[in-house]
Amino acid sequence: MRLQNKKALVTGASRGIGKAIADRFTAEGAEVWGIGTKEPDGLAERIAKSEGRLHWVCADLGELEQVEPLIEDLIKKANGFDILVNNAGITRDNLSFRMNFADFQKVIDVNLSAPFIIARTVGRAMIRQRGGSIINMASVVGIHGNGGQANYAAAKAGVIGFTKSLAQEAASRGVRVNAVAPGFIATDMTSAMTDEAKEKTLMLIPLKRMGTPEDVAAATLFLASDESIYITGQVIPVDGGMFM
Ligand code: NAD
Repeated sequence: MRLQNKKALVTGASRGIGKAIADRFTAEGAEVWGIGTKEPDGLAERIAKSEGRLHWVCADLGELEQVEPLIEDLIKKANGFDILVNNAGITRDNLSFRMNFADFQKVIDVNLSAPFIIARTVGRAMIRQRGGSIINMASVVGIHGNGGQANYAAAKAGVIGFTKSLAQEAASRGVRVNAVAPGFIATDMTSAMTDEAKEKTLMLIPLKRMGTPEDVAAATLFLASDESIYITGQVIPVDGGMFM
């Protein structure tokens, strides 16, 4: 049990990568507050399996003015968090020349602005308690770019920049800040890709398969736990070797 007696906040915990992280964390002994836009199917079973250590919160993190009060309230209810995983994210893909500004802005709001507000709010409390681990979900696209995803790539590059900056600001207070950069992971987010696009992407992966949410959860667990106690300001790719 690597997260015994730890309290974690995980955004986007209803499905995909965030669900795998929240469920792995509870299995490792943590008490987890999961946030998602709505109550997911199978929530009662997940709570029962976690022996009551999973708590659910419905919120739209794209409503930016509501984010800070919501998080402050959760910090009070939980009496502080040891771990934050900023995982919630969306895509609104299009070629830049056709992308309307609302789709650009929405992706920045959910993938970059909300994580910044949440990390700032939780981070302040972690600094007061002199310890904590913040993990931001970036993407290989934030490092390398991707045609058709200018909004998403900009948001994820921004996540990497703010991860490293916050890591520098918080290190002396015992708060670590890192990012995970998944590659091509089998979730709802990638299920909309055409078979042709999936085939092309698979050809670029030396380990010859799509990643699973559990693959990303394992790296996130490492960064959340004391196993990574001497690691901060880093971006860990989980991409099957797609970029070396
Ligand atoms: P997903 O679409 O399966 O799940 C997204 C989660 O975010 C859901 O729980 C959803 O409820 C939540 N969410 C979305 N908008 C929200 C909002 N406004 N308020 C609150 N919650 C919201 O996606 P996923 O593939 O599991 O992706 C999780 C994270 O990993 C995202 O940040 C994504 O950008 C990143 N990522 C995914 C891949 C991939 O290949 N799937 C690759 C790189 C990075």
